[in-house]
Amino acid sequence: MLKSDVVVLGAGIVGVSVALHLQAKGRKVTLLDRRAPGEETSYGNAGLIERASVVPYSFPRDLLVLARYALNHNVDAHYDPLFAPKIAPWLFRFWYHSQPERLKQISKELLPLIQNSLSEHKALIAAAGMEHLIREVGWIEVFRKEESHAKAIAEAKEIYAPHGLKFDILDAAALKAREPHLKDVVVGGVHWLDPASVRDPSALVKGYADLFVKRGGTFAIGDARTLEAEGNGYRFETRDGPATADQAVIALGPWANDVYGGFGYDFPLAVKRGYHMHYAPVGNAVLGHTLLDVDKGFLLAPMNKGVRLTTGVEFADRDAPPSPIQLQRAEPVAKELFPLGDHVDPEPWMGRRPCLPDMKPVIGPAPRHKGLWFAFGHNHHGLTLGPVTGRILAEMIAGETPFIDPAPYGADRF
Ligand SMILES: Cc1cc2nc3c(=O)[nH]c(=O)nc-3n(C[C@H](O)[C@H](O)[C@H](O)COP(=O)(O)OP(=O)(O)OC[C@H]3O[C@@H](n4cnc5c(N)ncnc54)[C@H](O)[C@@H]3O)c2cc1C
Repeated sequence: MLKSDVVVLGAGIVGVSVALHLQAKGRKVTLLDRRAPGEETSYGNAGLIERASVVPYSFPRDLLVLARYALNHNVDAHYDPLFAPKIAPWLFRFWYHSQPERLKQISKELLPLIQNSLSEHKALIAAAGMEHLIREVGWIEVFRKEESHAKAIAEAKEIYAPHGLKFDILDAAALKAREPHLKDVVVGGVHWLDPASVRDPSALVKGYADLFVKRGGTFAIGDARTLEAEGNGYRFETRDGPATADQAVIALGPWANDVYGGFGYDFPLAVKRGYHMHYAPVGNAVLGHTLLDVDKGFLLAPMNKGVRLTTGVEFADRDAPPSPIQLQRAEPVAKELFPLGDHVDPEPWMGRRPCLPDMKPVIGPAPRHKGLWFAFGHNHHGLTLGPVTGRILAEMIAGETPFIDPAPYGADRF
């Protein structure tokens, strides 16, 4: 029977990073997933290692913006009206935590994770030989309206510059010099220079998982919902039979509740769904940077497979069938910005951002079960925060003082 010191449930960016860090501490680790590593949320995101994101995505406080969202005609956000009563209490908590003073405090608590996100990735990128997937050219916010450009410039100077973040303010001509194939709808941009981007996020996670296996780790296919406490440890089923581990880590992203629920825990974990589609550029058009169209609310990212259009947020049941609405709305406005040609994918991809209303992940011990650990709820920034999460959780499991104080991310805050 397969026996390990620790089983890590979930082989997305978070679980794979936890597994690598535990292994580096000499633990015998099994990484379990029902499919190959990096094939769910960590597959289809926008690929940003968002070192500049020192303020998390919060709930809008402006009444006009809220009224616009309530009409449900936006590109950047959409909700299933039948799901609205179910998500309303969660949205209320999200709104509460988005008050300016709370948001300031939460941003401060998240800051050490963000500050260490790129350096922790770089250590794994080098070890796994994944440099070919990384672009270190930052990313660009583009604007169609003078007033939103001016607002972003003011925020960049007031909020972001004090953190030492580097950015260039671009007028329309400077933006066109950096992205010559952009169409004339833009009035300017803000180019964030610190973040990096990944040309294929799934390939990066697979590269990290290959490193874990090469270093002697076990990757097993199985259903994490089979996890149960047994004696002083845990038991679970793999495709090749039963297995045990002294300790278990729940790193199942949007599916974490399928397992922690069985142990009697209840967290306000919701999902913000999002979609992507790849396009072939028209003619010889090239996209050099990831672009966020702030006024319309979608993102274009240059990926190995083509130009990836990713959508904003959809509030709907985690397991409800995909809806075509967000991409249908985003595609025509994206074509106004950049010459997108044919679809590369036969169907749109849908993913689920695992979100807690206070915008922080849960990283740390399960309060009532010895040897059970949590690493989930990474919101819009799981690709960014996977490696840093892996490091602090492995340090906690090894009984060391984590290099970042994990108190703000504790499960006991709920
Ligand atoms: C459109 C979009 C754009 C995004 N852009 C960015 C970005 O640019 N930068 C960024 O940092 N983040 C971004 N994100 C967020 C990021 O993708 C997520 O936060 C991150 O991928 C979550 O990683 P995870 O490892 O927690 O979850 P996942 O990657 O979903 O991994 C969970 C794993 O658990 C497995 N699993 C589930 N149930 C079971 C079970 N019963 N048994 C066994 N295995 C199971 C799944 O197969 C999966 O492999 C984006 C998300 C979306 C949707």
